[in-house]
Amino acid sequence: ILVVQNLSKSFSSGNKTLTVLDDISFSVEEGASVSIVGPSGSGKTTLLGLCAGLDVATSGTVSLVGMKLNALDEDDRAYVRNQHVGFIFQNFQLLPTLTALENVTVPLELRGEKGFKPKGEELLDRVGLGDRMQHYPSQLSGGEQQRVALARAFISSPKILFADEPTGNLDEDTAHHVTDILFNINKEEGTTLVLVTHNMELAENTERILQIRGGKLVADRKSLTAS
Ligand code: ATP
Repeated sequence: ILVVQNLSKSFSSGNKTLTVLDDISFSVEEGASVSIVGPSGSGKTTLLGLCAGLDVATSGTVSLVGMKLNALDEDDRAYVRNQHVGFIFQNFQLLPTLTALENVTVPLELRGEKGFKPKGEELLDRVGLGDRMQHYPSQLSGGEQQRVALARAFISSPKILFADEPTGNLDEDTAHHVTDILFNINKEEGTTLVLVTHNMELAENTERILQIRGGKLVADRKSLTAS
């Protein structure tokens, strides 16, 4: 479902060029669960964004659900994302002027669907926020915002879900709750899961672990639970 070939990404400012990702190749089968781990600043978030079509590579290719992202313009990449991809951002990126429920249903509105409210309510219930639907992000705790972001990411039944530090800001109990939801979606609905995490317990629960260091892929192994 995801094929990454010889991917490199550089950022330039003035006359300086910073190479953040250097010749990365791997692929992910449909229905798999994969973690990307590595030190802070090693390029994990950048890699996730390129895989999801949020940004484009300097060189190399990404093929997502059979589509070559490099060959598409921003509008077409946005279309692919709306149709097939869920993304959970490190800092949630909820819209501050919308309620929890409105935030969750945004992807269906973007698709032009009607009558999406009950689905949003059902999902918020499922992540334990049935009594917070009309709250605004500023009225929610970090863990609650994270769960709203999670509900938003899978309301459109994506084929693949990308999550950047899904348990990053959560206490242990909430982290377990969020992790359970992610793995349920992966197992029951076959949604492919690609996540970036510093949490090795979470990483070992995915099937496979990719390790990034200094912008290079230095290890690609089965997790302890998978092998
Ligand atoms: P963390 O675990 O701390 O979130 P990370 O492994 O996800 O880190 P990235 O966020 O991918 O790392 O960043 C990798 C490097 O790329 C960093 O040195 C960062 O400063 C740099 N970088 C990321 N985005 C940009 C940008 N838009 N312009 C310039 N440099 C950038």
